[in-house]
Amino acid sequence: MTPAPLPSRIGYGEDAHRLAQGRALVLGGVPIPHAERGAVAHSDGDAVLHAVADALLSGLALGDIGQYYPDTAAENAGLDSREILAHALALVREWKYAPANVALVVTLDRPKLGPLRADIARNVAALLGLNETEVGVSFKTSEGLAPDHVQVRVTVLLARVEG
Ligand SMILES: [Zn+2]
Repeated sequence: MTPAPLPSRIGYGEDAHRLAQGRALVLGGVPIPHAERGAVAHSDGDAVLHAVADALLSGLALGDIGQYYPDTAAENAGLDSREILAHALALVREWKYAPANVALVVTLDRPKLGPLRADIARNVAALLGLNETEVGVSFKTSEGLAPDHVQVRVTVLLARVEG
């Protein structure tokens, strides 16, 4: 089924991982220094890249990353999330769309991520072929409601590419 040729389409994605000691915490491809705990995941657990990839797919009603990269498949163990995102982006381009801008919200109680805002924006932008001013990065805490999780929510605008 071919997605309707709208001038633009919106995509939304979410991802969450449990945090545990002895794991690295990577968000948007940026290793988080001083993180006491990291994401428990079958892949590298980068919740930002997973949510962005899901947002890209949802914008074109192409399903979700779990369909393309099942977490039960042995070959996906330790998978680099940049590969997942590149695959989602390739599908978007196949349908003649490109991301125009991205808004992402990371909810994490500790550590504070404010100093890494520009690094995360720059890295996500580079992976999507965008300028860093097209990637808005907001940080929230759960106010202690979910201290053992990292949660990410992402919206993306997909613009139709002519030709
Ligand atoms: Zn994930």
